[in-house]
Amino acid sequence: MNTPALIRGYEVVIGLETHAQLSTASKIFSGASTRFGAEPNTQACAVDLALPGTLPVLNRGAVERAIRFGLAVQAKVAPLSIFARKNYFYPDLPKGYQISQYEIPVVQGGRVEFLLGGEKRAVRLTRAHLEEDAGKSLHEDFHGSTGIDLNRAGTPLLEIVSEPDMRSSAEAVEYAKALHALVVWLGICDGNMQEGSFRCDANVSVRRPGAGFGTRREIKNLNSFRFLQQAIDFEVQWQIDRLEDGLAIEQATLLFNPDSGETRAMRTKEDAHDYRYFPDPDLPPLVIAPEWVEQVRAAMPELPGAMAERFQREDGLPAYDAQMMTQSLDFARCYEAVRDACGGPGGGTGRAAWAKQAANWLMGEVSKRLNAEGLAIAQMPVAPAALAALIRRVADGTVSNSGARQVFDALWSGAGDDVDALIESRGLKQMNDAGALAALVDEVLAKNEKSVAEVRAGKDKAFNALVGQVMKASQGKANPAQAAELLRRKLG
Ligand code: ADP
Ligand code: MG
Repeated sequence: MNTPALIRGYEVVIGLETHAQLSTASKIFSGASTRFGAEPNTQACAVDLALPGTLPVLNRGAVERAIRFGLAVQAKVAPLSIFARKNYFYPDLPKGYQISQYEIPVVQGGRVEFLLGGEKRAVRLTRAHLEEDAGKSLHEDFHGSTGIDLNRAGTPLLEIVSEPDMRSSAEAVEYAKALHALVVWLGICDGNMQEGSFRCDANVSVRRPGAGFGTRREIKNLNSFRFLQQAIDFEVQWQIDRLEDGLAIEQATLLFNPDSGETRAMRTKEDAHDYRYFPDPDLPPLVIAPEWVEQVRAAMPELPGAMAERFQREDGLPAYDAQMMTQSLDFARCYEAVRDACGGPGGGTGRAAWAKQAANWLMGEVSKRLNAEGLAIAQMPVAPAALAALIRRVADGTVSNSGARQVFDALWSGAGDDVDALIESRGLKQMNDAGALAALVDEVLAKNEKSVAEVRAGKDKAFNALVGQVMKASQGKANPAQAAELLRRKLG
């Protein structure tokens, strides 16, 4: 393991608790809809509010998703787990308790693997348990008072608890990204962070290297990777300042304010015993038969880690590229389509070269445009086959890299998908006629005696200037590598 960087002589320790909203159509204990964005208080039924006389009935789809997660992180799927009541008062919790799992959760142990600075890391999971979400307090638009929307009450959540294994904010972000990608890949969570479908609580402490764990403070409800990083970074400095001033850290629950970039205490932390957990008398133990686990296992998709390894093994991709290609299932499908279309059916010889070219384009131009326009890969306007045709035309020298970028822009903006026609109509065909190129080189050498003398005196800059002159004389159609080669030969 790599030794973590110290901050002002302190080691940072982070554990994350992540709430992933499970993508079921109805709630975890009732038939009410989980759809986002409905009129406030139109989707909470009597069961969600635990009105007298109602009984919760567990949603099988939520359990199935928990099993899928457990298998994906190599955890133990508990054959028997227990729902418990977590009792506390809050305006958005009309029941006065939240149904969760406490002593015996459905998923136990497991690990999440990811790359950090090119190195493989694994964070151990303590557990993942099923629970219901609470409602939502709305502080805006109420002329100084607070509104309560109970639509979210009873929405199924999987709370995924990590061990305190992370040693930097960057590592916490990479872990959270890997976990996010995984739950979306598995189809158990839509991953929409703006809508609160995936949110993290960050537990942060600092210590002198070699010392025992310090006291942690917990930052609640971070719903973007940037906020996660900012909140941890601020909190670490705050804790170190305090320790350096000779003060103790007290356990506390914090909120992050994205406007100021600061964390602020919300309440002193309650301990588990404050919640008076007890088994929910309305719900029998959750029993999961081994056959059910096997059924779920049989229906599992290939996981991102396994797929990334396959891309390294079969396509010769570097580890980083393979991880980028498996950032989502859609991305992986697109990569495979481009790769296959490049190499023709069956791949065969040169597969690795085509695969690397496909990956380069997807990590480069494609990702750049997707990010700039806020699009998902599934919305890419360029067909994989067209991108592959373009990659082949770069490889066979028909078009230069800069010409190819222009063709790509044309493909992107809907100028048709016939790559050869676009190269032709835009005059981007590279000069591959050796004789014509040689004539141009001679011309440039004759016109630029000063540069030639400088090159002979050993100035690299002057050489690049000559290549530039040849490119200019060819109106950008010369192959720069060929031009440089010819120049070098002629200059001796
Ligand atoms: P609770 O449920 O009360 O929040 P847990 O003991 O279950 O408390 O721990 C919650 C999270 O805090 C876990 O992710 C765990 O890894 C993390 N954690 C525990 N101790 C520390 C510590 N000293 N520093 C940072 N994180 C910690
Ligand atoms: Mg907690």
